Amino acid sequence: MRITMIGGGYVGLVSGACFAEFGSEVTVVEADPCKLAALRDGRMPIYEPGLEKLVQENAAAGRLAFSGDLKAAVDGTEAVFIAVGTPTRRGDGHADLTYVYAAAEQVARALTGYAVIITKSTVPVGTGRRIKDIVQSVRPDVDFDVASNPEFLREGNAIGDFMRPDRVVIGAETERAREVLRRLYRPLYLIEAPIVFTAIETAELTKYAANAFLAMKVTFINEMADLCEKVGADVHDVARGIGLDGRIGRKFLHPGPGYGGSCFPKDTLALVRTAQDHGAPSRLVEATVAVNDARKSSMAMRVIAACSGSVRGKTIAILGLTFKPETDDMRDSPAVSIVGRLAGDGAVIRAFDPEGMAQARSMLPESVTYCKDALDAAAGADALVLITEWNEFRALAPTRLADTMRGRVLVDLRNVYDPVAMRQAGFDYHGVGRPLVA
Ligand code: NAD
Repeated sequence: MRITMIGGGYVGLVSGACFAEFGSEVTVVEADPCKLAALRDGRMPIYEPGLEKLVQENAAAGRLAFSGDLKAAVDGTEAVFIAVGTPTRRGDGHADLTYVYAAAEQVARALTGYAVIITKSTVPVGTGRRIKDIVQSVRPDVDFDVASNPEFLREGNAIGDFMRPDRVVIGAETERAREVLRRLYRPLYLIEAPIVFTAIETAELTKYAANAFLAMKVTFINEMADLCEKVGADVHDVARGIGLDGRIGRKFLHPGPGYGGSCFPKDTLALVRTAQDHGAPSRLVEATVAVNDARKSSMAMRVIAACSGSVRGKTIAILGLTFKPETDDMRDSPAVSIVGRLAGDGAVIRAFDPEGMAQARSMLPESVTYCKDALDAAAGADALVLITEWNEFRALAPTRLADTMRGRVLVDLRNVYDPVAMRQAGFDYHGVGRPLVA
């Protein structure tokens, strides 16, 4: 089966490579000439574990190609996926659908026969209908269907999530479209992954509902962490105590500096706007957005308080900049607001992230010094702040860290370190939602 993937970013590249691995012949169309050149050279424009090998193998097998020529790529394909960005629109919080509609129009012009046009991008309810209108008005002569197939992969585990998904959601309105998608996902039937067929609107909303629910869960445990600090309880025990309840589940109950990344912040905001526009406001999601925004800002205040009320002239080592480990994605990372505030208050920032520093350079203040590893960042620092829980930070020996630093303040925003061991090594240790230990 020949398919076209419009957009070679995190979602388009991973799903394109995975569909190729499933046996389809995939052309990924990428508009950015730098990304396209890299992909054609076998270099990955993003960091995602296992992706380079998967792309190279499928490209070598002739099942995966990269192109800047959308028209040629779409010619003769049965399925065209739109996997372009849907960032927050400036000013009002809605999803910006400029790239999606531009892609739909380009696809319409390029169609040479029947195809299903499928949104993989996260798009608000009603977008599929609008795409149908656009394609119909540009090409009244051509036979096509639209479908919605939102992507649920997690950066850092994207290939596993695509190959062994908890479920696949497909919104379609004709049997012909469903049949094309069923064929595409046939390898998943063999592993009995649930495929949920719905109406287009339902599929579109399901993606936002999933992300909003997860964002709410994270925000809930963060609020509980604050309460734990006040009452002397341990948030990890609370999380375990509630998470073992099958109705609640253990995942997404880790306290931290607030959710970030390329999805939760923009998707919660867009859902809030959609719900308001349709006269069914979601107060829970509105509160989640507000609480999370406040949490990200309050994290810098925590560091300032740990540094006796001022960071002016102090050197602060930052470990981890990306919004989570195993990705280079810096979009809406809590590190952006934390580092921005600390640098703004006169701190000297020495930062290290295993994969995120290239993206960070354009998003953090110019004064930030990027270091070669964690110990280099810690060298001579008055305080150390762990923002992202990369595995290599877990293994740092407390005494080695203490010997490298000038001061002893350690703010562990992911609770990766053992507070007792850190205090024994002489650190003034601050975690999240855990009682102070003697
Ligand atoms: P991205 O910004 O990494 O990638 C989008 C790519 O599309 C860019 O490389 C851009 O140059 C390209 N592009 C834009 N218009 C184009 C066009 N007309 N022709 C060819 N290429 C074009 O975005 P992403 O993170 O992959 O996200 C894409 C969509 O998937 C978003 O709606 C996002 O919400 C959703 N999503 C993302 C994730 C994730 O973890 N990143 C997970 C699930 C869903």
